[in-house]
Amino acid sequence: MAIFNEKQQRIAERIDSSVVLANWKDWRWQLKHAIRDIDTMERLLGIEIEAEQKKQLETTVQKFPLSVTPYYLSLIDKNDYLNDPVYKQSVPNSAELEVQPYEMSDPLAEDKDSPVPNITHRYPDRVLFHVSNMCSMYCRHCTRKRKVGDVDRIPNKKEISKGIDYIKQTPQVRDVLLSGGDPFLLSDSYLDWLLSELQSIKHLEVIRIGSRVPVVLPYRITDNLVSVLKKYHPIWVNTHFNHPREITASSRQALARLADAGIPLGNQSVLLAGVNDCPRIMKSLVHKLVQNRVRPYYLYQCDLSEGLSHFRTPVGKGIEIIESLIGHTSGFSVPTYVIDAPGGGGKIPVMPNYLISWSTNKVVLRNYEGVITTYKEPDSYEQVFCDRNCRDCQLHLKLEDAGEEKAVGIAQLLSDDEEIISLIPDSNERLGRRNGDGNGNGNGKYNDS
Ligand SMILES: *Cc1c(COP(=O)(O)O)cnc(C)c1O
Repeated sequence: MAIFNEKQQRIAERIDSSVVLANWKDWRWQLKHAIRDIDTMERLLGIEIEAEQKKQLETTVQKFPLSVTPYYLSLIDKNDYLNDPVYKQSVPNSAELEVQPYEMSDPLAEDKDSPVPNITHRYPDRVLFHVSNMCSMYCRHCTRKRKVGDVDRIPNKKEISKGIDYIKQTPQVRDVLLSGGDPFLLSDSYLDWLLSELQSIKHLEVIRIGSRVPVVLPYRITDNLVSVLKKYHPIWVNTHFNHPREITASSRQALARLADAGIPLGNQSVLLAGVNDCPRIMKSLVHKLVQNRVRPYYLYQCDLSEGLSHFRTPVGKGIEIIESLIGHTSGFSVPTYVIDAPGGGGKIPVMPNYLISWSTNKVVLRNYEGVITTYKEPDSYEQVFCDRNCRDCQLHLKLEDAGEEKAVGIAQLLSDDEEIISLIPDSNERLGRRNGDGNGNGNGKYNDS
């Protein structure tokens, strides 16, 4: 298999003249030889950066460190490196030092919504569990840039056990999402321990792993790793391809190993200016993903983390991309475009409008071609008042299979048996006058009266 191409060979030999293919494909060799300074990056790529520019890059690296695997570096086209999508994602840009007033070090409030260290509990039934603080490549667009370059260490079992205990004691958690850092930088035996601890929690139904390893260090997906993972099904893996160029013989093989182990694969891309802000590039990417049994899951609007303004696009670019996909290609190739709400509101889907108008018995829709059509609604639909008494309902819900959560948010406004009729910010002045205190309490939260 043509895994060791000329470009890779050139880089490998510059690292170590006695290198053999087995070294290159050894993930520990790749990690050990990760490129961490501009000089080495220039030497291995065979490029020369202009002196003034280089000084700026070195200043940037002091604040936001550099680390790229030789494998990922080998994907760069040195003849046009400044426009190269892999170069842009892995090599610093002095624009990272320009922090905008609206940018934040923790835009998603992950550290605030954290009941115990390493856990972010935002949604009712699932938690994010930061189990590793190591990455094989430092993405320049990392949303957790605040943590990039923290000392790499194997998280100790005692600390991780606190997160496991939290999940054990929180029965509504049915889905845990292992993240980091990159969970696949943990050793096979550590992962084996962690997954077996999690699997022993009765109310936990699914384990998810988010990893960029298939993109930047595909050799980490070894037969042994896969044999550990498949002991703990259902395991889902989400990876992070941003550009079709990242899909190579090596990454294909990594994805095939995971898929062959029965692991459903998803992909989370970040919309990045100058990298993938183009409908044709995104269409090519999603087609390559599904060819490799990876379902495009999310397309993220770039977060408001510090120093990322050069990567951000207007939201309209994301909508334009989704417009170019829905209907134009297979439904399962279309990711959900989301904005992760600053302040910690979670992911909010955004898409083009397809519902143009409606009356009491018809809706007017438009399709991807611009055809405007109508859908006739039923003449009669007997509205059944739902008091959430499922036991006496004619629909056959098996109660033991169904959660018993209260309706929340707009779903609460829509439900029949709820008293509340509106959601109003606590700071609402009008209601403040009603209460006689002249003002709301000003915390901007919503109450539910
Ligand atoms: C993204 C995310 C999840 C998982 O969200 P899904 O929409 O279920 O994929 C869970 N917790 C946090 C904090 C997240 O950011």
